[in-house]
Formats: sequence, C-alpha cells, structure tokens
Amino acid sequence: MNNTIATLDPQIVWKNFYLLTQVPRPSGHLEKIQQFLLDWAKEHGIEAFKDGGENIVMRKPATPGMENRAIALLQAHMDMVPQKEDNSNHNFETDPIETYIDGEWVKAKGTTLGSDDGMGVAAIMAVMESTDLKHGPLEALITADEETCMYGVNHLSPDTCQGRILLNLDHETLGEFTIGSAGGINISASMQYKDVEPEEGDIALRITLKNLRGGHSGLEINEGRGNANKLMARFVRQAIADDEARLASWHGGNMRNAIPRTAQVVLTIPKENLEDLKELAEYCQQVFQDELKGIENDLQLTVEETEMPAGEVPQEIQDNLVSALMACHDGVLRNIPSIPNIVETSSNLGIVSIESGKADFLILARSSSETMLEYVQEMQESCFGMAGMKVEFGGGYGAWQPNMDSPIVRTMAQVYKEIFDEEAVIQVVHAGLECSIIGSVYPGMDMVSFGPTLRSPHTPNERCLIPTVGKFWTFLKALLEAIPTK
Ligand SMILES: [Zn+2]
Repeated sequence: MNNTIATLDPQIVWKNFYLLTQVPRPSGHLEKIQQFLLDWAKEHGIEAFKDGGENIVMRKPATPGMENRAIALLQAHMDMVPQKEDNSNHNFETDPIETYIDGEWVKAKGTTLGSDDGMGVAAIMAVMESTDLKHGPLEALITADEETCMYGVNHLSPDTCQGRILLNLDHETLGEFTIGSAGGINISASMQYKDVEPEEGDIALRITLKNLRGGHSGLEINEGRGNANKLMARFVRQAIADDEARLASWHGGNMRNAIPRTAQVVLTIPKENLEDLKELAEYCQQVFQDELKGIENDLQLTVEETEMPAGEVPQEIQDNLVSALMACHDGVLRNIPSIPNIVETSSNLGIVSIESGKADFLILARSSSETMLEYVQEMQESCFGMAGMKVEFGGGYGAWQPNMDSPIVRTMAQVYKEIFDEEAVIQVVHAGLECSIIGSVYPGMDMVSFGPTLRSPHTPNERCLIPTVGKFWTFLKALLEAIPTK
C-alpha cells in the first residue's frame, strides 16, 4: 500500500515524489539520488549533467511561441535530513521511506518524510517531463547537501547556470513567499592577561544562571528570550560594585548560533559579604523573572561555595571585560523598514569564556542589509576595542537583499492574486538560505522562494499537507507561463 501516495492529485507531482521516497538520499550520501536523477532525465529525453559541486543540472527548451521569455531556473535540494524515532531500525543509506496517508497529510513511518525538499525536486521533475505546459526556456538546479553545509551552492560555478530568474522550491508554507534572507558574520573578541592571586581570606562562589529557553539565534532572536551571558553580566557588575567581588572565570553558552541558555561564573569575595551577595542573587533572580515573565518561566540564579581558584582576572581588566559585556549589542538592532515586524539586523552574544589568562567572546551577527551588517560589526569592534580586546571577523556569508520591486516578485504576487484571489504573504528570513549564496555566484539573479505546506521538517513528525500540493502545482504552472520576456 506504500505507493498509494503515487495516485494522489496532481499525480504528475505525487508520482515523482513517490519515486524519490524510494531512493536513499540522506545528506552526505547522495550517489544513489544523483544517479537516479541522471537516469530519469535520460529516460525522459531531458538534457542533464552533474556539475563540479555535486549538483544536478537539467535543461528544457521553451514551448513554441515562448522562446523570447527569460530563462527560469527552478531550484530545490536533493538531500534530506535523516531523523528517525528511537524505536525505528530504518537505515537511511539503504532503505526506502515508507509513506502513508493520514487524513489530509502524507507522513512517513518513524522517519522524516523528505518532503523537505523532495516536494521541490518532484515539482521540477513534473515540469521537466510535462508535455502540456506553456513556458519559456527552463533550467533546473538540484543542489547537494543543503541541510549540512550547503556544499552544492558553495561549489557552484559562475558558468553552470544561464537562468537569471530563480524559483527556489524549498519553502514550508503555501501562500508565503520568501524574497530575502539574512547574511551573517562571526565576530570574535579576545584578549590575554596574566592571572593574579586571589585576595587572602576571600571565599570563592560559583554562580549559575540556568534553565533559560535558548533557541535559534536568527529565527528566534525577536522573541525576547533571555541571553544568559547578558543577564549574568548585570549580576556580576553589581556584585563587583556592592560586594567587592572579583572575577575568576566565566563560561556561558556553547554555540555562536544559539541563544545561550546557561552561564556560570566563579567569583571571590570577602567572607563578610557572603550574605549580601546571596541577597543580591535572589534580588537579580526576581528581577529577571519579572522582566521575562511569560517567556522564561524556569530561570534560576544559584549561589554555592566552591574551592578557591588558582588565579583571577586583574581588577582593571575584569572591569573592562564586564563593561564590554554590558555595553555590547545583543538581540534585534532593527526591523526591515519597508516590511513591518521582520528582523533585519541582530547579534547574538553566543559564547563567553574567561579563564586562566584568556578571554574569548564569540558573537554571530546577522542582517539582510549589507551596510547594516557592517554597522553592527563596527559597533561590536568599537565596544570590545575600548576594552582593549582584539576583534576579528570570519565565516561571513552574504545577504539576499529583498527587493519589493523586482520583476519576479511583482509577477509572482500578480499571478497568486489572480489564481487564489488573496494577497501573497511576503517574508524575509532572518537566517542563511541557499538563495543568498546562489545570488552571490550570479549577481543580479532575481529570486523568490515558495512551496507547499510542510510541518515539523527535520523531525520524524514531518508531514506534507495534501491539498496544498495541488495549489502549489497550479501556481507554479501559471507562474512559468507568466515569466517576463528577456
Ligand atoms: Zn529544505
């Protein structure tokens, strides 16, 4: 009964999606799916080849009378995220995905479904093999390993693709259209210092801030969640001012691209200030809980005595480091002026590490505006520079800058309105997408991203909403027919 999905409507899309479920294609193991796509193209008389980036490229000439249209480049990624339930013995490198229909949804038994982005690939196959569509010259780019390192687009050559209108078919909600995404850059601030001996007669305390929610430093940066490093800085600054605390070490967060959920510091204080410091911790915990009520309901700030550290940060350097942590930008800097409620620029104070003569702060800044990304870099450089730290940048990738007036965005909105009699929802994603890298390989590429509705991708609960596949297909066909002339 496994292939019942092949009979769903529109059959030309579901049949191809079914074929894809039969070919193993977890990220990192793409030989089988690449061979399948090349064989499939050959069988259907479609020009196809594998490029130097492990991507599959296909081409199809215009239908009669449509030769003057711009070349449309259809794009989707061939790999899928291999996630399964604990009790599943599915082998993603050898076994087909077992699908089933549950009401309006198509799901997989115990594994990810691979509709992210098998639906995009299936739609491309449907366009390529169809004989009853009207379209200009078409090109397809089916990319490799999007889910892990974006290998395919990162190894894309400027002469591989000729199309300059890109229809990216890797999106999770029908009716929404992505027209931009954020670029990002890693900012590292560091300094070395010579540890000093703790004051004689002091005691040492371990302060832990924990049970924050954390989250994706792009997609969830606007939800007002607590950053453990930032909150800890407020406590430590006060402890230094009120209780003669001295900083020995600090460990907060573990990934640049995650909002830090915990932070832990070791402080030394004169013994007689212990009660006062405990009260300060209780007070700060209450303040943080009140400020973040409804968002961070489990936040805790605890104090426990610990063994005396061998060394601590010299006072002047400690004050500079804590001031920098207080002053540095974190969170949303601003939203996109022309698109309400969508984050344009942010930074995430992801990792703070101070210990044994070395301080390292790691920040991931993001923006869909290149100049605003430069601004936030300069802002952080200025802040940490004032504290005497060395600031370095690395791992940068460009933004896909939204353009509300682009020809494909206007065409897409018009076609959507005509077919469904409702407005297309335009959005910009505050995270990196393949489109931004493709756009940097092919400057001037006019891009939009859309797809049918999927839920819980990257989990064994991944599912695809059947009726949206038909709407997606109807829309895609109409959009191809409406692609502007060159
Ligand atoms: Zn995807």
